[in-house]
Amino acid sequence: MKILVINCGSSSLKYQLLDMEGEKLLAKGLCERIGIDGHLTHKPQNGKPTFNEDVAMPTHTEAIAAVLDKLTSAQYGVVDSMSEIGAVGHRVVHGGEKFAASVRIDDAVLSAISECIPLAPLHNPANITGIEACKAVMGDVPQVAVFDTAFHQSMPGKAFMYAIPYEYYTDLKVRRYGFHGTSHRYVAKRAAEMLGKPLEELKLISCHMGNGSSICAIDGGRSVDTSMGFTPIAGLPMGTRCGDIDVSILEYLAANTGKDVKELTNILNKKSGVLGVSGISSDFRDLDNAAQEGNDRAALALEMFCYAVAKTVGGYVAAMNGVDGIIFTAGIGENSADTRAGICEYLGYLGISICSERNAKRGEDTFISTDDSRVRVMVIPTNEELVIARDTRDIVLGK
Ligand code: ADP
Repeated sequence: MKILVINCGSSSLKYQLLDMEGEKLLAKGLCERIGIDGHLTHKPQNGKPTFNEDVAMPTHTEAIAAVLDKLTSAQYGVVDSMSEIGAVGHRVVHGGEKFAASVRIDDAVLSAISECIPLAPLHNPANITGIEACKAVMGDVPQVAVFDTAFHQSMPGKAFMYAIPYEYYTDLKVRRYGFHGTSHRYVAKRAAEMLGKPLEELKLISCHMGNGSSICAIDGGRSVDTSMGFTPIAGLPMGTRCGDIDVSILEYLAANTGKDVKELTNILNKKSGVLGVSGISSDFRDLDNAAQEGNDRAALALEMFCYAVAKTVGGYVAAMNGVDGIIFTAGIGENSADTRAGICEYLGYLGISICSERNAKRGEDTFISTDDSRVRVMVIPTNEELVIARDTRDIVLGK
């Protein structure tokens, strides 16, 4: 079965076409500037050339049509006709408390996703637009929603509740939801394979560290705690997000800067994190370079990040009363040996030791801990699209 995986943003749309026989990537690409003018980058994986040109995309429907046109074209295509595509899997950011697993999309599911819009006002509307555009262009081809939040629905109340009046939870759904669930689920499964043990018997801590970063405690294959919260701003300091801060800072800043809560929240989301502290960049590569050239604020931002990750990992070891494996993934987790080493330096008390030669490897599933390390430490490149495609196949085939 061939499956089209769609990750739809408000003005962009990322896609991959996978052949589930052998889980092979057939093509991938990106539509940008949808609703503005439109640009398509399409990369077939069969040796045909890349298409990289402006294409008019007044709405997401034209974007999907352009993608299908390229996927089936003689010059850039990877399939003969649209009928070869058996199903579409969509990344959907927020499933609230309604979805603890992926689900086939019908009208009831679509309206439940709409009901979650207040929880993810920027993301869910775009995801719905992508689903509707596929329906318009592809008709009755089965569509499946895979939620960023679903994996974390297994968290117990003690982990997902905030200590605020209970009716804010019951009436307004204020609680920890967590994000990056698809990634945490993927790397946990892969870690169990690498460790040669059933996932059900393992205590794992997954560190997804990219532009957005979150950590997840996974006990027996189930998320029991995670660092992002009601929104993705919570937890670690990130590229541009502040992570956990004292909430009273908001009122204090409002009183002393003349900015309102909306403006300040925007600053906490887009101008904070390692960018805010360093004043240089949100990209860890730039910070590494600046720190090496003696920039103290860049060095401080990097130290703060490693320290926050190490503290969270320590908390999750306590939450699970132990840990068998720690996983690093996403842009920073997969690529930055210095950040991994900086974090693991704090974890010696767990009997963790890192092999610098192994830690220098890149882009492949690998152990970076030494053979005598009491806890195994792994780097596992994440693959959210593959999880979406697998879930889509399983649901459509009724597995
Ligand atoms: P997203 O969260 O947008 O999916 P990624 O997981 O792709 O992001 O992570 C992007 C981030 O990864 C970049 O901003 C950068 O900080 C970091 N990164 C990528 N390559 C490296 C590298 N070689 N060294 C350090 N950091 C890196």
